[in-house]
Amino acid sequence: MVPVSPPKVKVLVLGAGFAGLDCCKKLNSPKIDVTLLDRQNHHLFQPLLYQVATASLAAPDIAAPVREILADQENAQVFMEAVETIDLKSQCVHTSDRAHAYDYLVIALGARTGYFGHPEWEAFAPGLKTLEDARSLRHKVLKAVEKAELCDDPKERRRLLTIAIVGGGPTGVELAGAFTELIHRTIKDGFRRVVAEDIRVVLIEAAPKLLSMFDEDQSVYAAKRLRKLGIEIHTGTFVEDVREGEVDFNGTSLEAGTIIWAAGTEANPVTAALPTDKDHSARLIVGTDCSLPDYPNVFAIGDIAYCEDTNGVVVPPLAAAAAQMGAHVANLIKSEIKVKTGRMRDKAPLLRRQFTYFDKGMMAIIGKSAAVVKANKFKMRGFLAWVAWLFVHLLLLVGFRNKLTVLLQWGFAYLRGRRSARIIVSPEP
Ligand SMILES: Cc1cc2nc3c(=O)[nH]c(=O)nc-3n(C[C@H](O)[C@H](O)[C@H](O)COP(=O)(O)OP(=O)(O)OC[C@H]3O[C@@H](n4cnc5c(N)ncnc54)[C@H](O)[C@@H]3O)c2cc1C
Repeated sequence: MVPVSPPKVKVLVLGAGFAGLDCCKKLNSPKIDVTLLDRQNHHLFQPLLYQVATASLAAPDIAAPVREILADQENAQVFMEAVETIDLKSQCVHTSDRAHAYDYLVIALGARTGYFGHPEWEAFAPGLKTLEDARSLRHKVLKAVEKAELCDDPKERRRLLTIAIVGGGPTGVELAGAFTELIHRTIKDGFRRVVAEDIRVVLIEAAPKLLSMFDEDQSVYAAKRLRKLGIEIHTGTFVEDVREGEVDFNGTSLEAGTIIWAAGTEANPVTAALPTDKDHSARLIVGTDCSLPDYPNVFAIGDIAYCEDTNGVVVPPLAAAAAQMGAHVANLIKSEIKVKTGRMRDKAPLLRRQFTYFDKGMMAIIGKSAAVVKANKFKMRGFLAWVAWLFVHLLLLVGFRNKLTVLLQWGFAYLRGRRSARIIVSPEP
């Protein structure tokens, strides 16, 4: 008699970000069928999005097709589909025209820009989360410089070249430094009427200091560097209202050609209807093993999850943390399948692995040639921190081609000060 092999276990992974992709890669086992759903066809390296927005890199440099990344993994299939609903009772995920059944579900749909209860501000102050966001921001700022060159009214020129950035975390700080350098660099290239004094970059932060997750001396250093670049900083300042081309704070109204929201995130709305506990940002509260309470075969990982690890540490919304959670859940599922199909099947629930977050640190770049780095008790700032930032981000990029092109573009930009992605393409993306 020919032995019949047991049916494969179906693992459905939602989202090809850092969490979902790492999970899929680690689920490489002949006993498992992996299906990955994402509404986009690419994995995006979000930490370098600001460089696309500020014309240092082109969009394809920081993204890679998901299908290509998993091409050699025979047990994995990829579908470009948007998830609409998740039905935990019938173990099924619905897209617009299909239903995907699962044995195990991994929810890794990430976060979106949050407006602290003012969704109407999004139209006037877009966030930075996707390649489309980055490209339209770049388009807007480069066009504003061109419009300013055509403008006879000095007041209007100044309004066009005013950029207000809400949020003084790493993204806001990186954008402020890079936009200031971009415009200064751009106007040196043949602009005759726009002058450096027309440029105004304003950074607004609700907390008492910039980069509040870093140490005090690093925040002070960042503020000093940004002020040296001419950036206006308002800490301890809450935005009161945002309208077309205007942002209100401290009882006054600032007219700005570009307003960018880099202040907050909230969980992906797809999971809002799930009958399970959520935190104040709508993140799914998971147990230490990353599974949903009452649904041991359903996991939430990455930015969409609120997780306290085995040491009671709240896992931060960072790329490395998301990837670690992805690897943890994949290993857990693999060992559970092994136990369930082996001699120790009665012990399966007892043997569940719990997640321990390994802090690899945080970094933020502050204009050209300076950065801050913090990893546990180790910290660094200045030029060496900037070199470390370049090195780490280059290593983390997916794909050799991307690493090489990014390295060449950074080298060129550093030596010549030129930005390679400054072409304005019409119509607006
Ligand atoms: C501008 C910016 C800068 C950052 N800088 C840093 C940094 O320097 N260092 C750092 O560690 N972290 C940084 N982060 C945070 C880091 O990028 C996130 O923590 C990380 O991406 C989280 O990974 P994730 O897999 O949970 O979600 P994501 O990477 O956001 O992936 C979610 C995936 O789900 C897909 N998706 C969403 N909704 C649907 C749907 N309905 N149907 C199908 N697919 C869907 C998306 O297309 C996406 O591919 C930054 C984030 C941003 C936005």
